[in-house]
Amino acid sequence: MVPGDILVVSEGQKISADARIIAGEVEVSLSTLTGESAPTTRSGEAVAASVPPLEAADLLFSGTVCLAGTCRAVVVATGDHTELGRIAALSQVTVPTKSPLEQQVTRIARLIAVVAVAAGLAFLPLGLLAGLSFTSAFLFAIGLLVANVPEGLLPTITLALAVGVRRLAARGAIVKRLSAVQTLGSTTVICTDKTGTLTWNRMSAVAIGVAGRQLDVSPDLPPDPDVDALATALVSCAITTGTGVATSSVDPTEQALWEAAHTLVRDGAERSVSRRLHVYPFHSEARMSSTVDDTAHGVTLNVKGAPEAVLARSVCLLDRGTERALEPAQRSAVEEQVSHLAARGLRVLAVARRSLPDRTWPKTREQAEHDLCLLGLVALLDPPRPEVREAVRICHEAGLRVIVITGDNPETAREIAREVGIGDAGVRTVTGAQVDNLSDAALTVLLQPGQEVICSRSSPEDKIRIAAALQAHDEVVAMTGDGVNDAPALRRADIGVAMGRSGTDVAREAATVVLTDDNFSTIVVAIEEGRRIFDNVRKFIVYIFAHAVPEVVPFLVFALSGGRIPLPLTVLQILAIDLGTETLPALALAREPAEPGIMAEPPRARHGRLVTGQMLLRAWALLGVTSAALTMAAYFFTLQRGGWYVGAPTGPGTPLHQTYLEATTASFAAIVACQVGTALASRTERVSLLRIGPFSNRLLLGGIAFELVFSAALIYVPVLNELLRTAPLPAATLLFIAPFPVVVWGVDELYRAVRRRSVARVADPGPVPTAAREA
Ligand code: ADP
Ligand code: MG
Repeated sequence: MVPGDILVVSEGQKISADARIIAGEVEVSLSTLTGESAPTTRSGEAVAASVPPLEAADLLFSGTVCLAGTCRAVVVATGDHTELGRIAALSQVTVPTKSPLEQQVTRIARLIAVVAVAAGLAFLPLGLLAGLSFTSAFLFAIGLLVANVPEGLLPTITLALAVGVRRLAARGAIVKRLSAVQTLGSTTVICTDKTGTLTWNRMSAVAIGVAGRQLDVSPDLPPDPDVDALATALVSCAITTGTGVATSSVDPTEQALWEAAHTLVRDGAERSVSRRLHVYPFHSEARMSSTVDDTAHGVTLNVKGAPEAVLARSVCLLDRGTERALEPAQRSAVEEQVSHLAARGLRVLAVARRSLPDRTWPKTREQAEHDLCLLGLVALLDPPRPEVREAVRICHEAGLRVIVITGDNPETAREIAREVGIGDAGVRTVTGAQVDNLSDAALTVLLQPGQEVICSRSSPEDKIRIAAALQAHDEVVAMTGDGVNDAPALRRADIGVAMGRSGTDVAREAATVVLTDDNFSTIVVAIEEGRRIFDNVRKFIVYIFAHAVPEVVPFLVFALSGGRIPLPLTVLQILAIDLGTETLPALALAREPAEPGIMAEPPRARHGRLVTGQMLLRAWALLGVTSAALTMAAYFFTLQRGGWYVGAPTGPGTPLHQTYLEATTASFAAIVACQVGTALASRTERVSLLRIGPFSNRLLLGGIAFELVFSAALIYVPVLNELLRTAPLPAATLLFIAPFPVVVWGVDELYRAVRRRSVARVADPGPVPTAAREA
């Protein structure tokens, strides 16, 4: 963009240059520049004399936000030359806060550091007491330290999240912060819009109501003065036409009304307005929009909006071409008609008009929108998206509840919710006005755990209050939003979800997740993905932690025997495992598909630990101890075969030195073999490997293949033998080690089977009648 370009600015957009308005009128928030949050009106008509730029009524500024209306403007300054550029230095301070995941990782890192250093320091005197020389004791302490530090952990976590976020993007959810993935996975409540999220946001008018009659929308209706009047008003007030400003995205409600108008307008009737004079844009608080049009019958204010809003400002009703006073009886007849249409899930709008005396129009919409004459109703069909029903079912199964917060009519909202299965087990319906009158305590009761709620005719403030009330219950709230004034609620929620297509820049900026398809079921996909990624991080934590025991035990054996048993593993070999053979399988575990039943479990606790005691027990006590036992067995097996006895010298130059090198290599190979078993075991947390198929993670198989080839190179390539002090292993040793992966995996498989049975027993409420059990 360069000075001289023409900008088309519409509601919700962030303005990206300083510009002078040439047509149209907008409301802007200058809060980024002035700190003043009240919106101000800017239009091309008022030409500023010599006022400071920030007060000039026809200037727009980079970094500010258009709240309502549309306009065209010519760029006058960009980048550093804008007002914002001048004060940029002031707005550059941001303090990044750490997400729960980052905090947890930091905590684990600290914990590991303390354990490793403490173990190293504590065992240094132990080694000396056991009779080691200072150099050997020091080597031993370093070995312990290295063995305890899971060098691969941090890069694998980051990579797992990055890959997860990429996959999410491919599936329609753009996550703006890597660490939000964990919060996503622990979501317990989804607060969703109706229009566009549960439904297609593709509307078409199916019925109209005029003076007590209900008609289908079709081009061959019999001549009717009321239909003509309604159609004429609709043609005039469709924002898409005649503003002189084409906006990039057309509001589907407007689009549908415009199409209806053109279906209904009869030949010979006036097809278009002569001139649009002014627009009072749609506001979600007012729930109406109006235009001032210069027509053949004089200057007219055309109004459309939510029936109750329009009806409240109407005093008469057009009935067979004549305007009659709107008596209470007719009022309730119209209301009756509205609920009848809304009960079918239709979005109902009322259309009204008022003649204005001349070509001037009131400054505020309050002064304009009163004493209206009601022309009729238009009912729009916006069917639910077919996949939402299944997504809602998955939510319920996964212990998530769905709360609908919409600006639409209560009956329309309830019908759409019913069609997609929200509130199957009981639902409460409230309106925004009722929420406003509830105390915080009463709101908390309304939103008690398990209760699904539909909040209709709501305002953006209701969203904030609902999010806060849910969070007070310790719920993790995902909240959708698309409008400018949804931004605070999106920030308030744990996961703000903005719409990529229909949403505004402002909402997208405030959100954590942006849906590229605006679809509710994508939120559910994202939650599942969040759970999967978190599970996978835990899987490779188990995998990576497991190797600590077989790496530490050799050093303990060495130290506790006072050096009579030679060191079974060298520090370099440990590094070869931690940084070499082990990393690819760990990365592949991060790609593990979701474990069966992942969405049949209740959400994880918000502050759920990344590493639990149970995981440590499994990694260290089960997988670790098994691996350590096997490793020592391989070591002693090789020493024994070479004729070693306790205390026999194995240093360089002694007859047993070659045997010793072979034996340490056997320890190394054994740890690698055990890690292969551990990798297979870590693939699932609950279910059996056979259930997901041993070959279903191709990357892991590739990682294991690499691991084996890499280890073979370290064992059999002479140069590497020199470097790592390894020696080629004879076939007998290889045969001894070959079954290790199966043993380690088998032990864990047994453990999981036992756990599944005990979990099933806990979940079982009591004795089940035999017939029921068989059924
Ligand atoms: P939602 O998107 O949740 O359905 P909105 O806040 O967009 O709610 O709309 C609330 C109500 O305002 C709608 O039910 C409708 O009656 C009215 N409305 C929506 N769009 C327009 C518009 N462009 N012009 C006039 N009225 C509108
Ligand atoms: Mg809307």
